[in-house]
Amino acid sequence: MMCQVVEEYEEPLEQEAPSVSKQCVKCKEVLAVVVIRAGDKYCRDCFDQYFRHKFRATLGKNRIIFPGERVLLAVSGGPSSSSMLRQVQEGFGQSAHKKLRFMPGIVYVDEGGAVGQSVEERRLTVAKMEDVFKAAGFPFHILPLEQILDIPTSVVALRAASSPPPASAYKAAVDDFIRNGVISDVTPQEKAGTPPPYVLASQTHALRQMMDSVKTLTAREDLMSTLRQQMLVHTARSEGYTKVMLGHNCTRLAVQLLTSISLGRGAHLARDTGFSDSRYGDVTFVRPMRDHSAKEIAYHNRLFHVQCVFTPNLHTKAKAKSSIQHLTESFVNNLQVDFPSTVSTIYRTSEKLQTACKNSSSEDHGDKCLLCMCSLDTSGEMASAFQATLISERLSADANGPLPGENPGRRGPQTGSCCRGPGQRCVEDGGCSTALRPPDTPDVRPWLCYSCQLTVKDMSCVDVLPGCILSEARRRQTRSRMREEISDFLLDD
Ligand SMILES: [Zn+2]
Ligand SMILES: [Zn+2]
Repeated sequence: MMCQVVEEYEEPLEQEAPSVSKQCVKCKEVLAVVVIRAGDKYCRDCFDQYFRHKFRATLGKNRIIFPGERVLLAVSGGPSSSSMLRQVQEGFGQSAHKKLRFMPGIVYVDEGGAVGQSVEERRLTVAKMEDVFKAAGFPFHILPLEQILDIPTSVVALRAASSPPPASAYKAAVDDFIRNGVISDVTPQEKAGTPPPYVLASQTHALRQMMDSVKTLTAREDLMSTLRQQMLVHTARSEGYTKVMLGHNCTRLAVQLLTSISLGRGAHLARDTGFSDSRYGDVTFVRPMRDHSAKEIAYHNRLFHVQCVFTPNLHTKAKAKSSIQHLTESFVNNLQVDFPSTVSTIYRTSEKLQTACKNSSSEDHGDKCLLCMCSLDTSGEMASAFQATLISERLSADANGPLPGENPGRRGPQTGSCCRGPGQRCVEDGGCSTALRPPDTPDVRPWLCYSCQLTVKDMSCVDVLPGCILSEARRRQTRSRMREEISDFLLDD
């Protein structure tokens, strides 16, 4: 099978090679410097035009960022988000009718504490980021991930979006903007960035403890990306932004799509990979780089000297098979080498996906996952993967005695809050039971989607989760208990 495929691909390639011209396909004058796909050769200027056009077209066709709207650019220092920053920067240097019309700001979440960077290393990275952001000339916010531990409940409690504007509203807003002129331009003098807040060693320790409590790299990476998203939403809300721009390119989204499927996030694929993601209600995530490939971005960054800042992540030094995310990434990249349409094939699929949401506007907060904020997919039919997991858990529990975290007398949703880890708060004797859990640690599992349940199951202790998540779980638990108590007196819906 494989041999056949290879043969079919080899022939046309060999034939094509001698007839290739060295000129740019666009202007047909200048010598090409970039080859994107076989046959697509561009000179420096035409490539830049093509690159810019794609960025503006993605924004333009989706029509969801309104003139004057405050938009937060999430920049990690990586090639993709650095390129996005450059595109926005250039969008403000354009002539009046082509100029971008929103109000940009930048956020950088410093994850050094979670990946074990020293204080000195983090300070250096932050200083480099500051230089890049100052040069960009937009207001910026640099925040350590540790802050997630101290934020109020606001992120996990859903905030309703103001009702979506009608389709005609965008055109009206643009016309209005053109008639009434300019929003006050951001001038360099006003752009005082917030100095990075001081991180306490105890906060870094707490963050490390949370990361260390997760036993697999797969779950750790999943938790990390959840926390990062929550930080972005929190920053957007507290600084008054209504959109967050992410630098995800189509290569990354293709990997994300396959990863999401492998992690049991099938129900959330459209949100995880689409152009816009409105799961947080009042703050919408957009992905304007989703039509650019990692290769195009790398070429563009090199040709136009876009500065990137390297920051290590959880799997920087890990082997390819160390986590599902990392394995999927190397799988897609390796396949792409021999089959250049791999990424676009996977990625085109993601455009066809839609979320089948049942009356999401009137949904109770209790219906959203505490971690990823997607709707709960756990009330599925008997034949779902979720039910199968529950059954196999129950069977192995029957064979081996009560599950960790489960009170032997009670069969119900488990918390996964087994406390065998050293130095945890719970008492270790004879396998911990619900009774040994500190009374204030709530049951988080009923409020998680299928995939997030798998992540939390890999944690040795749930009481290291950020306080805002635990207190929201507590609130929901109390509510559902109350509802149960008075259920006999309630009229049916
Ligand atoms: Zn050209
Ligand atoms: Zn979830």
